[in-house]
Amino acid sequence: MEPRSILKLDDNVINRIAAGEILQRPGNALKEMLENSIDAKATRIQITVVNGGIKLLQIQDNGCGIRKEDFPILCERFTTSKLRTYDDLSTMSTFGFRGEALASISHVAHLTITSKTSTEQCAYKAAYLDGVLVGDIKPIAGNQGTLISVEDIFYNMPLRKNTLNSPQAEYTIISDLIGKYSINNPQVGFSLKKHGENNNIVTQPNSTSIDNIRIHYGNTVAKELLEFEMENRSFKFSIKGHISNVNYSVKNMEFIIFINDRLVMVPNLRKSIDDVYSMYLPKSMHPFLYLSMQVEPRNVDVNVHPTKHEVHLLDEEKIVEIVTEAISAKLLGSNNSRVFYAQT
Ligand code: ADP
Ligand code: MG
Repeated sequence: MEPRSILKLDDNVINRIAAGEILQRPGNALKEMLENSIDAKATRIQITVVNGGIKLLQIQDNGCGIRKEDFPILCERFTTSKLRTYDDLSTMSTFGFRGEALASISHVAHLTITSKTSTEQCAYKAAYLDGVLVGDIKPIAGNQGTLISVEDIFYNMPLRKNTLNSPQAEYTIISDLIGKYSINNPQVGFSLKKHGENNNIVTQPNSTSIDNIRIHYGNTVAKELLEFEMENRSFKFSIKGHISNVNYSVKNMEFIIFINDRLVMVPNLRKSIDDVYSMYLPKSMHPFLYLSMQVEPRNVDVNVHPTKHEVHLLDEEKIVEIVTEAISAKLLGSNNSRVFYAQT
């Protein structure tokens, strides 16, 4: 056959494909926006959803806001206030900044942003489509902080829209995500509600991680937690968290890990820790863990996957071994003390 000529895809098509890789469901968009609000030092974050976030996903924070001058380029791809050079990637205390989140959202949904900084007299509101500002930047009344509305996600990607779960299941993913971020950010008060209903989950600002574990996972687990803390100088990481003791077990392991304050997956570590617990827990039962790990940014590669959920650590095998051993020692210690108490 005659080969067909090769043509370059239209930019908007390329951008929509890329955005579709980063955002697979409303929860992915919310994760990016939650991180932005936390980066902006918000102490209150309110989320409102309609139809599991498919019809509307709205997030309001009281963070530093976005300057009016930045509105025109806000949703262009690779625009960020957090990263200036490639080297910044390795020295930043948090990570995942690629300036792609808002841009991606604008390629797969109708996006409206309202924001006010502390020095501006009023808030400004603008709408975005396919990376560009549409219409004017309108002055309106508003409090300090940012309000972002994402409507009709995947309106222009019918196949993707069809693969979404039911609104109820998408809502569960969203509330699970907010629960986890509230555990890692107890200084922030979170609320989640379905439009027109009362708040569904609420955490208070200045709570503790345990308060929020209790709210989201119940007192049964909250009262069986051991405080876990470790530091390793050679591999330059530290961990703080709460892990269930040997009296507690569940059918499905709950392994919540934040690395440099981003919720991620580290499958090897999860597996290895589950194996340690299996020596203590009844057959087919699993633990609950919440770990917050700080790593030298240069030792963690977040760009394994466009969604940034799975990360690779430098010396991962060794680190997994060290952490697993520390957890094992902690369990052994608490187990001994139980025996000890029983004897006295
Ligand atoms: P990134 O977070 O990688 O910089 P984003 O597309 O998520 O990229 O956001 C682009 C920029 O918009 C951020 O760098 C930040 O300056 C600004 N921004 C986004 N959301 C907020 C928010 N809730 N509060 C203040 N600034 C925000
Ligand atoms: Mg971001």
